[in-house]
Amino acid sequence: MKTTWNLELLYKSPEDPQIEKDIKLIVSACKKFEKKWKGTNAYFKSDKILAEALKDYAKLYETIGQQKPSQYFHLLNDTQLNHPTAKARLMQIEQSMTEAWNRIIFFDLELAKIPPKDQKKFLSSAILKQYRYHLEKIFKSAKYELSESEQKILNLTEQTSYEIWTSGVKKMLSEQKILFGGKEMGMSEAAGISPSLPREDRENIYNQIIEATKRVAPFAESEMNAVLTIKKIKDDLKGYKHPYSSSILSKQNDEKAIIRFSKIVTNHFPIAHRFYALKKKMLGMKEPMRIFDVSADPGKVSRKFSFDESVKIVRAAFASIDPQFVEVFDSFLQNGQIDAFPRLNKRAGGYCASSHGLPTFILLNHTENFDSVRTLAHEMGHAFHAEFSRSQPAFYESCTLSTAEVASTFFENVAFDKIFETLSEEEKIIALHDKVSSSLASVFLQIAGFNFEVELHETLRKEGFVSKEKMSELMLKHRASYFGSAAKLDRDDGLLWVRWQHMRYYFYVYTYAYGELISSAMYAKYKEDKSFVKKLKQFLSAGGSDTPENIFKSIGIDTTKDEFWIAGIKNIEADVIKLEKLVNKNTKKNK
Ligand SMILES: [Zn+2]
Repeated sequence: MKTTWNLELLYKSPEDPQIEKDIKLIVSACKKFEKKWKGTNAYFKSDKILAEALKDYAKLYETIGQQKPSQYFHLLNDTQLNHPTAKARLMQIEQSMTEAWNRIIFFDLELAKIPPKDQKKFLSSAILKQYRYHLEKIFKSAKYELSESEQKILNLTEQTSYEIWTSGVKKMLSEQKILFGGKEMGMSEAAGISPSLPREDRENIYNQIIEATKRVAPFAESEMNAVLTIKKIKDDLKGYKHPYSSSILSKQNDEKAIIRFSKIVTNHFPIAHRFYALKKKMLGMKEPMRIFDVSADPGKVSRKFSFDESVKIVRAAFASIDPQFVEVFDSFLQNGQIDAFPRLNKRAGGYCASSHGLPTFILLNHTENFDSVRTLAHEMGHAFHAEFSRSQPAFYESCTLSTAEVASTFFENVAFDKIFETLSEEEKIIALHDKVSSSLASVFLQIAGFNFEVELHETLRKEGFVSKEKMSELMLKHRASYFGSAAKLDRDDGLLWVRWQHMRYYFYVYTYAYGELISSAMYAKYKEDKSFVKKLKQFLSAGGSDTPENIFKSIGIDTTKDEFWIAGIKNIEADVIKLEKLVNKNTKKNK
């Protein structure tokens, strides 16, 4: 078993002459495609010519989809942040890749101009069958496409109307200092250590965070109004009806279905209220919790998990589903595709990097705690999704954002259940508490954020400007709707919009809830009927070859039905009830 990456699977060394050859190959493939197809729209006229162009395009994707040179330097840099040349080489390569890519973007833009009556003809053509979904995506957004010169102006002003504003607020937030234990630290570091501290310290840190947030709020008020206003301008120009329309379309979801979905989740917020009432009890509090209590750790799972042991646990969990998952896992360990341990000059956190036609690599920072085991299973879930989708043509290989976390959460759940049975009664309570609070945050809290965004954009559209007081009032309302009466929120708790970065990503947050609930429902189906594995593999192999709705439909999951979402939500509720029982049993025992 290797526990560091073997990057020789890509290139022998940063000086390998093959790197230059591969860059040249990508650039020349793009040039060739440009020369053959730019300036002619012969492919408008017949499905035969269009099929030929798309075949060339798919082949081109096989070459550029690899991104082998940039992938190599990305990975090298992440494990050797002090590498003398990796960063500079990466910048250089990415610049040439962007230039190459710019040569071929004309193709999708041209396809978008195909008149609607011909679109219909092409979508039903038999020889275009394998490109149908690709065309459908382009045609669907075509009606919102602006003219090239209009789009150019919008692209050029993106920096001044969005990026410079948001990066200004980020900069101000990162400059704020919190004083704790005689040490100065940034806001996110302070928020990160807070949950495990005594109540007094949590309150102290939180008060300082609020003071710091207030210092940033006046500038964030202007920033947020810029972010909301440019969105309104773009939507008006392009003809999008609602503030969330373009975001849902870009994630290839159905607008009506997603709005319906957000309402169903909202109707089930009382499950979160039930959890927080229990949490209050776990913390031994008589008074309602304050916001710095709701995230407090009720304890820690003290058992240590060495990497070897974690591999054994996760391997056994995968084996209980299907031997094919074990095969993939074993080959990753043997080939050096998992970089397991933290060390100096290695990037923090964990991720899975996959790319067409290249070996998948997983980065971990294993620290022997319970979370590290879950992370191993989670990242392997991403890897299975990538490995199984290799059968798709390159441009259908990666899935959409809204399904990106389905496989990872599924395999994390499988591993969780395997470990859970081996824990002591006290540790079970902590482990289940951590699991439930993270699913609640992914599902309910994100939808509370989504609801806030809807109201925020609508207010701007009605009134022209939203004051920071109004934004805080709206945030407070939606935050309170999530916690229920177990927590007593303060007016200043509404300032969260200043620090919640995702509130600037335009309705991105629903994807967390969507993926988590689908995953949870799939896991329930699997537990009920083990033959569901066949369908699970079918999902993993589908990549991004169709809309999420259609991919799930093909494995018997109808996401347009309320019952489906309710079943997923009920699984979370079942965990809350299980936790209630464990806590009650334990407090009786302790009496
Ligand atoms: Zn993930």
